[in-house]
Amino acid sequence: MIQLDLIRKFRLTLPALREWINNLLERHKEQAVPVIKLGYARLPQIFSKDLLERSQLVVVTAKPPFPPVGSMGLSEFAAMENMSMDGITYKNTFFINHLRQTESLCFHELVHVIQWERLGVDNFLLSYGAGLMQSGYLDYRNSPLEDMAYSLQTRFDRRSLHTDVVGFVQQGTDAIWGGVAPLIFEARRDNKGT
Ligand SMILES: [Zn+2]
Repeated sequence: MIQLDLIRKFRLTLPALREWINNLLERHKEQAVPVIKLGYARLPQIFSKDLLERSQLVVVTAKPPFPPVGSMGLSEFAAMENMSMDGITYKNTFFINHLRQTESLCFHELVHVIQWERLGVDNFLLSYGAGLMQSGYLDYRNSPLEDMAYSLQTRFDRRSLHTDVVGFVQQGTDAIWGGVAPLIFEARRDNKGT
């Protein structure tokens, strides 16, 4: 269930989340490798050269970094900080554990890059947060933005992708936002001045 109070709290945390993300990307910019340079064969058949040039991979030897949401005031999400994840995307950069790097996982994270670009930072974070509230925090794979990435990844693995993957992701992302936006506006209306 989505609670308006939680959405309000999430909105108040956006500046801290943005700052944490910007600092993270700044700290890792020397290690970030454009996806186009990874030498994968199938990704250039699916995505434009431009997207693969502006999307970047940072390989990490530990768990991919996750914001300290508990200490940012979002205790409801705190359990996610310790969850094992193979990869995670922030804006146009994704972090993947070195033991888990595959073309398939890079495809999954590129779906998130398109989602981030479509929504912008704040609306991506709000949509992702609202999706987690809907799905249950530890069941993040069922949240709508993840569900899209996982089901497309399955199609990638089976070689049964749609022809226009980018358009499909953009439309699906718009539809997810269409479900979330009214709740966010409602939360904002009830709490003027924040
Ligand atoms: Zn994902």
